[in-house]
Amino acid sequence: MKQGKLIIFSAPSGAGKTTIVKHLLSKFNNLSFSISATTRNLRGTEVDGKDYYFISTEEFLHKVSKHQFVEFEEVYSGTFYGTLRSEIQRIWDEGKHVIFDIDVEGGLRLKRKFEEDALAIFVQPPSLEVLKERLAGRGTDSEEKLQERYAKAEKELAYADKFDVILKNFELETACAEAEELVGTFLKS
Ligand code: 5GP
Repeated sequence: MKQGKLIIFSAPSGAGKTTIVKHLLSKFNNLSFSISATTRNLRGTEVDGKDYYFISTEEFLHKVSKHQFVEFEEVYSGTFYGTLRSEIQRIWDEGKHVIFDIDVEGGLRLKRKFEEDALAIFVQPPSLEVLKERLAGRGTDSEEKLQERYAKAEKELAYADKFDVILKNFELETACAEAEELVGTFLKS
């Protein structure tokens, strides 16, 4: 496959997009996860080269200067995340389509770049309160980091209507089934 398609899942952190993306990966064997590069520390059970490419800020900025990212962002102050061009190519070279779990601005940037080859899905949580509960429940972030995530989540909820589709994640099983339907249809089109 010279160029496959791109399925973009964006949402505020805690909206459930990672779970939905994992579900889709288990259902579609022609999809492959775009592993982003990040400068944040490895968390919990995460694996380098599987969940993220964990790299230093120096290495990240060097890659930026060499134009190696399709998009990148300082998602939280001092913490960078980005999609490497080589990552998308790696997946296309395997004859697969790419699926992204990425923040709202990065998602919209990819959509603008790849246009009709990309399906941009915004995962909407039931409410900001539920989102806050989910983020706090992870127990992996300091209070300061949590406050930063809350503030960002609130801002991101306003971007929903810029996406191709808004997928409500009020009940996980329903949201996964709807996501399957959307992606199946898009990949066949
Ligand atoms: P976390 O630290 O919880 O893994 O991710 C924080 C946020 O960064 C999430 O919204 C996640 O989707 C987003 N993110 C992950 N990879 C990328 C990327 O390559 N680019 C951008 N712009 N955001 C990303």
